[in-house]
Amino acid sequence: MSAEHVCLRCGACCAYYRVSFYWAEADPAVTGTVPLSLTEKLNEFRRVMAGTNGKSPRCVALKGQIGSCVHCTIYEERPSPCREFRVAWEDGLPSPECDKARLAWGLPVLQPYALLPPEQIIEHRLEQVDPVQNLKTRRSQPDDVSIGMVDEPEQSPAEENDAGESAAYS
Ligand code: SF4
Ligand code: SF4
Repeated sequence: MSAEHVCLRCGACCAYYRVSFYWAEADPAVTGTVPLSLTEKLNEFRRVMAGTNGKSPRCVALKGQIGSCVHCTIYEERPSPCREFRVAWEDGLPSPECDKARLAWGLPVLQPYALLPPEQIIEHRLEQVDPVQNLKTRRSQPDDVSIGMVDEPEQSPAEENDAGESAAYS
């Protein structure tokens, strides 16, 4: 699953942060791409995406429902902060900013495997519930009275699925 697909089911950062950038990014006279009508002046040097400079920010260019199905209506023309914002685990690294926005919207933070292709996510989950591995683990715990039995995982695959898949920027 690509970062783009994950973000299309999230959008939390577009409705959490103030998106400010150098004014020239919205000035076609100097090759700016951001539609000027969707921006507001912040100060002498910077503009913001309209809707993001208040107590309940939400970029006017964001359409859809946060955490479900969203898209940026100016994706190809979006400003630099949006291009540079990192979705968690995109390069194998965490993103505290992504996590913060998702948590603020009641969404679970992305797990490290969230951006893997679907078949690899399934493999990962199977490893998590591998009975042979579970058995080996239990045999290494001599005080465990259920040795030799394969327990159900503490968290069901479906629950794990929720946590990983409700995962979706830039
Ligand atoms: S990615 Fe698009 S919708 Fe999100 S903050 Fe940037 S311009 Fe707005
Ligand atoms: S970068 Fe993170 S917070 Fe932003 S839309 Fe993607 S998953 Fe959501």
